[in-house]
This record gives sequence, C-alpha cells and structure tokens, in this order.
Amino acid sequence: MPPTLRAVYADITTLNVDAIVNAANESLLPGGGVCGAIHRAAGPELAQECRMLGGCRTGDAKLTRGYRLPARYVIHTVGPIWQGGGQGEAALLASCYRRCLELAAANHITSLAFPSISTGVYGYPIEEAAKIAVTTVRESLANVPMLHDIIFCCFSPHDLAVYRRTLAGE
Ligand code: ADP
Repeated sequence: MPPTLRAVYADITTLNVDAIVNAANESLLPGGGVCGAIHRAAGPELAQECRMLGGCRTGDAKLTRGYRLPARYVIHTVGPIWQGGGQGEAALLASCYRRCLELAAANHITSLAFPSISTGVYGYPIEEAAKIAVTTVRESLANVPMLHDIIFCCFSPHDLAVYRRTLAGE
C-alpha cells in the first residue's frame, strides 16, 4: 500500500506515531519553539541522551528515544538558518528530510511526523520550505518501504493551508 502523506494542525508532542522529528539546533540542547516543547514533554532524560550525542551538523539528523512522549523515538535534525536563499539553504533543508527518512528506515519506523523545519526562529519562508518538504519526502519514499504514515504537523492554520496546497500540487 502506498504511504499516506497528510498535513495536520496539532502540537507535535501529542501525536501517537512511532517517531516525531525535532527541529533542533547544532548543540542538540533544549531550545525554544518546537524543540523546547518536545524536551518539556519528553522529560529531562531526553536532554541527557542528547548530551551524549556530541551535537549534530546542519542538514544531518540523530535519533533518540522519546521517553515520556507518546512517540517511541525522536529524530533530531538541524535545519538551516535562512540567509536569503543563496547559502545552500534549500539543499540543507532537503538533506534534513532525507536524513530523517534514512534513520526512519534503519529503525523500522512505520509512522513519522515532521514539524515545519526551519520556518520558525530560523526564518525559512514557509511556502518554499513546504515545497522542499513535500518534494523531498515524495522522492525518498521508495527507500522507506515500512513507512506508511507521514504527517506534516503544522502549528498554525496558515501553515496548514500552505502544506495542504503543496500536497495537492497547487
Ligand atoms: P526552527 O529553529 O527550525 O525554525 P522552530 O521551533 O522555531 O524551529 O519552528 C519550527 C516550526 O515548528 C514552526 O512552524 C513553529 O511554529 C512550529 N512549532 C512550534 N512549536 C510546535 C509544536 N509544539 N508542535 C508542532 N510545531 C511546532
């Protein structure tokens, strides 16, 4: 069965999926935004495990357990900071989605939720980021046959509308 790709309006920490993705920073230490929410909901053990990982480069991803979250795993990825688009931001953002899917495949994850990576504090324009998210995930699906449910978790009605339009190819 082909996997479902859908956009929902939700707090990602509440989602009952195998893994949620965290839009982290290179230190992998608790920050603001979705990262802060994930650390608060998971409990202090998450930061303890993150400290052992030695950080994460922009465009890469690392996996931890989910502790008190409904999700069994958290995949931490570091999106690029938007600097106008000429600093390789698009390739780095695509790399985040690809690396998350590689880790999902390696860990037999069947359902996965992404936040809108880089579009908060890191300032990536949402329309462009949503196109990269949807295109990159669609291109990589063949490599992740076990993954049957992929959620783009939006944190505002506006972001939800953008993702729904992008998924519909509009
Ligand atoms: P970045 O630094 O990568 O831009 P942010 O956490 O600032 O990361 O924002 C990424 C996206 O996550 C933004 O669209 C923001 O609105 C959204 N977000 C913030 N909190 C949550 C949450 N609890 N669940 C889902 N998305 C969230």
